[in-house]
This record gives sequence, C-alpha cells and structure tokens, in this order.
Amino acid sequence: MSELVKNSLQIISKISQSKCGYLVRINNSDFNIIDIWGESKEKFQSLNNSLLQIKRNSDVEFNSVKELPELKNLYTDNSINSFFIQEVYSFRERNESVYILLFSEIAEAFTEECKDRIIAALTILSGQVKELLNIENYDVGKAAGDIENLQITSEGNDFLSEEDDNFKVLLEVATDLVFFLDKDGKIVLVNEAGILNLEYTSDEIKGKHFLEIVDLDFSNSTSEAFEEAIKTKNVTRFETRLVSKYDRQLAYEISIRLISKKGKINGMLGTGKSISKIKHFEEEIRKLKPKIVEANRLIKLERARTRKHESLVEELNRLKSEFISNISHEFRTPLASIIGFSESIELDPDLPPEMKKEFNNVILNEGKRLAKLIKSVLDISRIEGGKISLDRSTVSVVDLLLNVIELNKEFAGQKNIELSLEHPTDEVTLEADKEKLSEVFEALINNAIKFTNEYGRVKIIANNLFREVEIIVSDTGIGIPEKDLPYIFQKFYRVSRPGSEIPGTGVGLVFVKQMVDLHKGLITVQSEAGSGTSFIIKLPKNIKIERSEVKS
Ligand code: ADP
Repeated sequence: MSELVKNSLQIISKISQSKCGYLVRINNSDFNIIDIWGESKEKFQSLNNSLLQIKRNSDVEFNSVKELPELKNLYTDNSINSFFIQEVYSFRERNESVYILLFSEIAEAFTEECKDRIIAALTILSGQVKELLNIENYDVGKAAGDIENLQITSEGNDFLSEEDDNFKVLLEVATDLVFFLDKDGKIVLVNEAGILNLEYTSDEIKGKHFLEIVDLDFSNSTSEAFEEAIKTKNVTRFETRLVSKYDRQLAYEISIRLISKKGKINGMLGTGKSISKIKHFEEEIRKLKPKIVEANRLIKLERARTRKHESLVEELNRLKSEFISNISHEFRTPLASIIGFSESIELDPDLPPEMKKEFNNVILNEGKRLAKLIKSVLDISRIEGGKISLDRSTVSVVDLLLNVIELNKEFAGQKNIELSLEHPTDEVTLEADKEKLSEVFEALINNAIKFTNEYGRVKIIANNLFREVEIIVSDTGIGIPEKDLPYIFQKFYRVSRPGSEIPGTGVGLVFVKQMVDLHKGLITVQSEAGSGTSFIIKLPKNIKIERSEVKS
C-alpha cells in the first residue's frame, strides 16, 4: 500500500477520532472484496453481505454497527461501537469501487460535523487511491491533473490544438471552474483547481454530461441557458446549483460561449464561479433586513422624541420670554401711575386737598397691586423650591368667600357685572391655610370678572359635600377655547386672543393649582368659547395637611 494512501488513511482516522481505518476494494457486480488495506482479507469476508445490502440501498454510510452483526461479532473484543463507511472511488470502467471504513469505540463518534471533516479529506484520498491502483495494478498513464494526459474527445482535441500553450497555463492557474464541453454537452476538459470545490478530480468528472452535476431543480433553467448560448452565439451567464461528488449543493454563476468553426459546432467553453458564500451572505442580509428596518424605526421614534423634547424646551423658553415682557408691562402700568400721580402732587402745590387724597389713593392701590403681583411670582418660585408650607386652621369657607367678593365688588361694579354667592345655610368649614385659600378665591373671582364683558354675571357657589367642600366660580364671560384648556394651568400660559388682548402674566392659575394641590384638593375647568367658564375646586374637609410637594 502506498505510503501516501496510508498516511491519508491515518490522518482521516485521527481527525475522525476513530480507532482504526481501512480501505476496501470491492467488485460492483458480486460485491466481493477484491482487496483490503489495513487488515487481513479473511477477517472481512463477512462484510460482503453487508456491503451488498448497503449497495442495494444505494446508501454507503452507516454509523451504527447494530445493523451489521458480523462486524459486531468481529469487534466485540475491541469494543467497537460505531463505524463509518463511505465510497472513496468508483472505477466505472473496471466495475469496482473503493470504500473507506472507520471504526470507533465512541457510540456517537460520527457526528455530522465529523463526517464533514472526513468528506473534505476524502477528496485527497480518492485521488491517491486512483493513482495507487493505476500504478500498482494497471500502470495506466500518469498522475491526474497532467493536462497532456487528459482524455479529450476529438472535439476537445480539435479545440485545444488550435489554442496556444497559454490556454493550458490558464487552466492551471485558474482557481474558478474552467470547462470545455463537447457538442453533446459532455465534459471533456476541466481544470483541477476548479473542480476541487465539487470534490471530484478532473479524471472523475470527464465524460459526465454537464447536467449530471446540476441539481435536478435547476436542470430546466440550465438547459434553457445552453439553448440560449447556442442560439445567440454570445456569452450567456446564468446561475445554477451544482451537486458535488458527496452531495453538497453549491450555488454557481456560470458563463458559457459556443465554440464553432466554419458553421460546425466544436463544443462549449465555460467558466463557473462558486457563489455559495455570496448566496449565504445574501440570505443573512435578507434575514437582517427586517431587523434593520426595526432599528431604523426605533431611531426615528427616538429622534421624534428628542425633537419633541427640544420643542418643549423651546416652548418653555418662548413662554418665559413672553412672561418677562408681560410682567414688565404689568409692572410698568402701576409704576407709571405711581410716578405720574406722585409727580403731580409734588409739582403742583396748589392741588386741591380732595384731588390730592384721590391721587394718594391711586398711588396706594397701584402700589398694592404691584406688591401683590410680585408676591404671586415669588410664591410660585417658593412653592417650586418646596419652601412654602401651609398654616392650617379651621376656616369658614362662606366667610372667606364673602370677604373676597367684597374686595372685588368695585371691579365688578365698574363693568356692571352681577356678582353673587350661593351657599348652604349651615356652617361650611375646612382645615386649610386661610390666607392662601383667600388668594386662590381672589385669583379665580378676579379672572372671572376680568374675562367677562359688561352686564355679565359671575356666580360663586359653595357646596357642603360629605367629605369635601366644593367651590364653583362660574362666569358668563368670553370662555376658553377647547384647544387651550389643557394648558391653562401651565406656567406663563396665556390664551392668545388677537385684537382683544387682556393684560396678564399667566401665573395666576399656576398659583391656584399649586395651592389646591397643597391642600390635597382637585381643580377642574369647564368652558366654552363665547359662553363662559366654570372653575370647580374640591377640597377635603379634614385632611391632615402637611408641608408637601406640588405637582407642576
Ligand atoms: P393671567 O394673568 O394671564 O390672567 P392666569 O393664569 O390667571 O393668567 O390665566 C391664564 C389664562 O387663562 C388667561 O390668559 C386667560 O386667557 C385664561 N382664563 C383664566 N380664567 C379665565 C376665565 N374666567 N375666563 C376666560 N379665560 C380665562
């Protein structure tokens, strides 16, 4: 047995982790063992029946000895648990085949991964076997791959003889598949490196019809491509799937062109590029695509969220600068009155005392208005900083409302607005901060008058409920458009009323909401543009009011 074949066999035994490896040459007609390398021939006589059975099933691969009792008996001493059998070479012309047998003591030794490794190594072994048997027994020709010795049909020879040596060199150096088919479509010439991917040697493939190595599913499309090449006489490119010697399916991109001379078809010259990897990557990309789409969607969402956040910050900044301009205006108006009337008193010593008194009154009222404004702005920032606490006491709600109504009577009178209070006869009390609650009522009642036209009505209702007190401040004023309703408790928010802008700062309702929250109460608003507005406050009667945080 050639050293080379022996080494290969040993390598295969090693990579498959099998105990020992054998090569068996059998006759394909009677399935008798002609030769065995690695053990004495006699020991394997019992194999014949098994091989016959295997061949009949056209299945040459087993990984369990259970189905072959003879072998099991033979190897009980060596505790052989599984074996592997695979065709290494088939000599069609001699009607015989060579098989490799591997034995292992590990029951599950021949896994798929292990088989893949063995099959890859078998390509080399099969070439060596062919060479070994040719030299030892038949002494035919030289080593495979020697292009001078390729058996080329007459057409192939014609074709080659007309080309210079460069073509032969090209065949040697080309790593892609290069082939020449005769006019019947049989392979007459192929390069060694190119055919290696299909696990054949050039000798093995020669004489096969090209369609024999094409996957059945692709034979129609491949035939059509060949017809196209014959018809057009142009280079025709197509994709197909070839089947390797050991049944691996491989995607190929084939280019073919008809070779003819003086109207006589010589054959077909072609190249093939394995695109299995590309196909594999394309498949991976296809699988990844939905994930990329999903990722892009998430990025888009995230971007939109950031944009929303940015626009919120922008909106807040806009409201802030609007607030500064509004509040400056609010400050400037009372200040202008204070300065103007003070100057008048100062510059005119002859001013009648009644006028002086009236001017002083204006100065005092405007000063108070200014102080109130500054206080509410400061209050908001103090509440937000958690620096405000409630000074609890038992408060008579009706008394408190009457007091605030009294303070706003003059303002309502100026606009001929009817200001009324509806309340139960029994005492309505709350555990609350009297001053803060008074400011809440003041803000709501003042707004109600401010946003109600002349001869309108502002009605305040106090309801004594089971656990809470309900206060409704309702007016027949200009109302709040529906789109603005969700924002009116936001800092600096003011309903835009182009052409009839009513001065304000957008902090009054913020303060109201913060105070109601501090009292663990609830404030809601119902309004319709042009019809009027109702603010409804519900405050718990006896809740333990603590210094607490405010929802903004
Ligand atoms: P302002 O100082 O601008 O009055 P507020 O916080 O008190 O600020 O009110 C915010 C906005 O809510 C006002 O600009 C106003 O348009 C609207 N608003 C408040 N109360 C009423 C009401 N009773 N009728 C109509 N609109 C009102």
